[in-house]
Amino acid sequence: MSRVFNFSAGPAMLPQEVLEQAAAEMLDWRGSGMSVMEMSHRGKEYISIAKKAETDLREIMGVPNNYKVLFLQGGASAQFAMIPMNLLRDKKTADYINTGQWSKKAISEGKRYGNVNVAATSEANNFTTVPPGSEWKLNPDAAYFHYTPNETIGGVEFDSIPDAGNVPIVADMSSTILSRPVEVSKFGLIYAGAQKNIGPAGLTIVIIREDLIGEPLPGTPVMFSYKTHAENDSMYNTPPTYAWYIAGLVFEWIKRKGGLTEMAEINKRKADKLYTAIDRSGFYKNPVDPKYRSWMNIPFTLKNAELDSKFLEGAKAAGLVALKGHRSVGGMRASIYNAMPEEGVDTLITFMQEFQKKNG
Ligand SMILES: *Cc1c(COP(=O)(O)O)cnc(C)c1O
Repeated sequence: MSRVFNFSAGPAMLPQEVLEQAAAEMLDWRGSGMSVMEMSHRGKEYISIAKKAETDLREIMGVPNNYKVLFLQGGASAQFAMIPMNLLRDKKTADYINTGQWSKKAISEGKRYGNVNVAATSEANNFTTVPPGSEWKLNPDAAYFHYTPNETIGGVEFDSIPDAGNVPIVADMSSTILSRPVEVSKFGLIYAGAQKNIGPAGLTIVIIREDLIGEPLPGTPVMFSYKTHAENDSMYNTPPTYAWYIAGLVFEWIKRKGGLTEMAEINKRKADKLYTAIDRSGFYKNPVDPKYRSWMNIPFTLKNAELDSKFLEGAKAAGLVALKGHRSVGGMRASIYNAMPEEGVDTLITFMQEFQKKNG
């Protein structure tokens, strides 16, 4: 068996220990005589798996008791609709910050259900920075304030939680959740598709302050109401049972590794060394304002774009895969979530330096 270092933005690498445990438990989960995939979601074995995962996630993130943790389907993209459908209510208007491709998608979906005020945008800077807080035109009467703490495609990350006054903050944490400690109590709602830093695709986590759970807009499907899922412990219908189980194994892995403080230390070290290698090279380039560089997704270009395919082929031969950048940005992108070992980043840097020597 040989495993590669997979730099995909998502679905992304999972910790090898987690995959090994899942493999060992595949045919017979702890004497149940069946795989987790084959269990009834209402049976006591599965309920214990589901509860343990929630308890561990609450512990890792320090989720306060007045927040519900929901295990849903539909990806972060379904949340782009569920958020306005459930949170707009009689206010009918919401603030959004536009820092890239995912913000834009959230904004265009938000516009289908209410009035969207784009309070600030970095589009004129080609999404390489976060617009300065002094320029934000916030509406104090907005139903909520939406932002994307980490833009997965542009590699732009907020360096702190914005101040939205009394307006509840809604954050698309798909590509940054669990990368470091976060003060959950500052948020009204946090959501994330699992396939980047949590577990397999098919699971979406929503952490929502209980007072924000209420009647959605008229006509909202039952499945799109937070109330439905909150009142039924995410078991109104069949949840994504296997993805939920694997996410639980990932939460246990994070706990064993020392929690989010330790994750943050490792992630910062991994990101710092890759940015340093890029900046010092005179051959590779990252376009993002250094203050807002992502720890998780690092786009970079080569001095000569004609070398891109040669770089990708060489990287693949060295066991470094999925480095091709998003079509909207070009070049390369290294996504280095929690499960990317530090050794993977070191191997990438060594490869980049050797490639430059031969082709620079
Ligand atoms: C990947 C991603 C999405 C889309 O997630 P899906 O689960 O595929 O819907 C949305 N927002 C961000 C920030 C992402 O990284």
